[in-house]
Amino acid sequence: MKSIDNLFSLLDQSPSSAVSRQQFLKTASRGLVVGAVGSSLIGCDKKPETTASAPEVASTPSGPVPKLPALSPPAEVPADSTKPIELEQIKAKTEQQEAPTPTPLSPDQRVGYALVGLGHLTLDEILPALSMSKKSKVVALVSGSPEKMQKVAAQYGVKKESCYSYADYDKLRDNKEVQVIYIVLPNGMHAEYTIRGAQAGKHILCEKPMANTVQECQAMIDACKKADRKLMIAYRIQYEPHNRMVREMIKEEKFGKVKSIMANNGQNSDNPKHWRFNKALAGGGSLPDVGLYCLNTIRYILGEEPNEVVGYVHSTPGDPRFKEVEEQVNWLMKFPSGVQTSCATSYGHHDDKNYKVLADTGWIKMDPAFPYKGLQLETSQAQGKENQVIQHKIGEINHFASEMDHFSECVLENKAPFTPGEEGLQDQKIMEAIYQSAREGRPVKLATIEKKDAFRGPEPKQA
Ligand code: NAD
Repeated sequence: MKSIDNLFSLLDQSPSSAVSRQQFLKTASRGLVVGAVGSSLIGCDKKPETTASAPEVASTPSGPVPKLPALSPPAEVPADSTKPIELEQIKAKTEQQEAPTPTPLSPDQRVGYALVGLGHLTLDEILPALSMSKKSKVVALVSGSPEKMQKVAAQYGVKKESCYSYADYDKLRDNKEVQVIYIVLPNGMHAEYTIRGAQAGKHILCEKPMANTVQECQAMIDACKKADRKLMIAYRIQYEPHNRMVREMIKEEKFGKVKSIMANNGQNSDNPKHWRFNKALAGGGSLPDVGLYCLNTIRYILGEEPNEVVGYVHSTPGDPRFKEVEEQVNWLMKFPSGVQTSCATSYGHHDDKNYKVLADTGWIKMDPAFPYKGLQLETSQAQGKENQVIQHKIGEINHFASEMDHFSECVLENKAPFTPGEEGLQDQKIMEAIYQSAREGRPVKLATIEKKDAFRGPEPKQA
């Protein structure tokens, strides 16, 4: 594990001549990819499980970074291939109409990803999601387990020569097919692998939480800027339609002004030996892992930043899981508009992932709000003598396909991502203030930020 000083020294090794060529391709994304509505709920940030394979322990970088090669350009996209193919109408006009046919790019036009870390998220969600993506493809793998990597490479058609050990990570620079590195490693490794990846001339998509500290987050942003590479944090909730609809309702003041939000994301996690219970690898306990969803989603739906927090932290005495990281955090946030929120997260109670927005003339409920599938949106408002509760049926999409395709679009069209590094840094600042409040037993003030969506890039096309 690298200390922050080592990370800054990595930054100093970055090459003077960073790659600056960008691709501008015309793509007109039409609507969301509507997938089948799944009935089973899959929890986000599943509890750690013991894997059969040995952990892939990463190595440290060595030596100065040589000059970067150019990224291979994706093929030109013919303008008409971005229009949906029109099919004969078979449904009555009075029926729910079908979504436009998808407009995927052909494999040679898609952005090539290297996936780093072959754990639960990569194998269970990200690799399968690529079959639903329209602009992204897997072209390389990085793992400490050659046997597992061989199997995965065969399953997903990755070339043998595009499989790397952690010791060979920096050799990704020579692989022209790789344009993006997707970092799916324990949280404490995100900073080091982001910085080295940017220095290898690649754009970076990094899993949440961005890193363990504010300093690490800043070092990641600086390294990507210095190498002229894009950095996006994989906040999948900001790329799916249910939570987006809540954001729209709040923006349009459909139920008047928001007064209060209650959010909860907790689960009963096991296996004290897993990295999630190791402070250096995880950064903290339930807060940066699952509590972060409450924090990031509230900031997203309000488009506002809190300027004061109060936190409480508790761990069951003697529980072997919580020797280094916390079990449970409850916290309050105050926003400049007057909105107040109350959040809870835990590794020690039965699965529960939801929030409720209370406004002047109605409420909005998302339950569940944060899993990969099966999100449910409900609203309530008075209708004469009745209280009308509506369950909104929204076509589900694959969060990971949507998030990766947004980043691919940013690479292809040289745009800023909707959730750049600055978005992850802001969450980290707030989480550190929550811990500080709990430690010192007092409210902690944060800078008042007047600007709406202060840390986000332009809205994704799918919106
Ligand atoms: P995991 O434990 O299943 O996988 C982690 C991988 O990293 C494993 O393949 C492991 O072998 C490898 N690794 C390399 N060096 C290691 C080391 N020194 N110690 C331990 N493991 C090492 O974890 P995961 O659930 O796949 O989580 C990976 C990242 O993805 C985390 O940052 C997590 O917060 C994030 N995540 C995000 C979501 C989401 O919905 N966006 C969901 C789950 C996890």
